[in-house]
Amino acid sequence: MFSVDLHCHSTASDGLLSPAAVARRAAEKDIRMLSLCDHDTVGGLAEASQAATEAGVRFINGVEISSEWLGQQVHILGYAFDPDDKALGEGLAAARSGRVERAKRMSLALEKVGVPGCFEGAMRYAENPELINRAHFARYIVEIGVCKTMQRVFDAYISPGRPGYVENRWMSIKDVVALILGAGGIASIAHPGRYKFSRNQMHSLFEEFGKCGGLAIEVVSGSHNAEEIARFARVAVEYGFAASCGSDFHGPSESRVDLGRFPPLPPDLAPIWDFF
Ligand code: AMP
Ligand code: MN
Ligand code: MN
Ligand code: MN
Repeated sequence: MFSVDLHCHSTASDGLLSPAAVARRAAEKDIRMLSLCDHDTVGGLAEASQAATEAGVRFINGVEISSEWLGQQVHILGYAFDPDDKALGEGLAAARSGRVERAKRMSLALEKVGVPGCFEGAMRYAENPELINRAHFARYIVEIGVCKTMQRVFDAYISPGRPGYVENRWMSIKDVVALILGAGGIASIAHPGRYKFSRNQMHSLFEEFGKCGGLAIEVVSGSHNAEEIARFARVAVEYGFAASCGSDFHGPSESRVDLGRFPPLPPDLAPIWDFF
């Protein structure tokens, strides 16, 4: 089975496998084109690229950048950029700054509701402390037996509105897309089905993204069901976006979908790889 996976994570951010191990796993799953999209870092790309190339998998540089639209976190994927671009490097460093401070505040908030030791506990899961995020907290809270699953941790403690959730300041969509374009790359909106926006708010997100030079939308994602795939395929046509696809794989034991294991792109869409 031929497949393309343009969205997954390694230990360079909050994944469980090293960048090289992700690339080797992709080869085992018969993936022909792979992009590693760690959160706010390009630190895993060189290692993944080398391992992918050695295993005969075409590798596309990728990144998933945290941004903000109408008060909600929105993730923007960047592809096929120059990973040594200076402005991109500085922008990503700025995006990472503030995470440790936020993690300390999350830990204090969680302590108040009876979940102790979260900062140190989550840090043990974060290979790069600068990139500590809520997934590392969820792993620790499952480890100490407070919740059975990571999903339960998110629902009970660390989603917006829950006691352990702490806001962070993310870049604007405009600034994120400008960073990606400035480094010669192309941008796609990650997992649009995950955002809790109204119809009008979604429309304004797509308009803004297109106006800034955003090219694509992640129509097929490990977190989309069949209805969402069909809906975002229509969005791609309506707004003139190309379509991307990816598992959002974080690790064998915790991701719903393994590398490459998602439905094909619906017909009649312009695949993003035509632009690579
Ligand atoms: P942060 O950047 O600290 O807001 O953390 C976001 C990360 O948490 C995402 O990259 C996902 O890996 C993970 N995440 C967010 N929501 C969920 C969820 N409902 N279930 C499992 N993991 C989630
Ligand atoms: Mn993640
Ligand atoms: Mn994401
Ligand atoms: Mn992701």
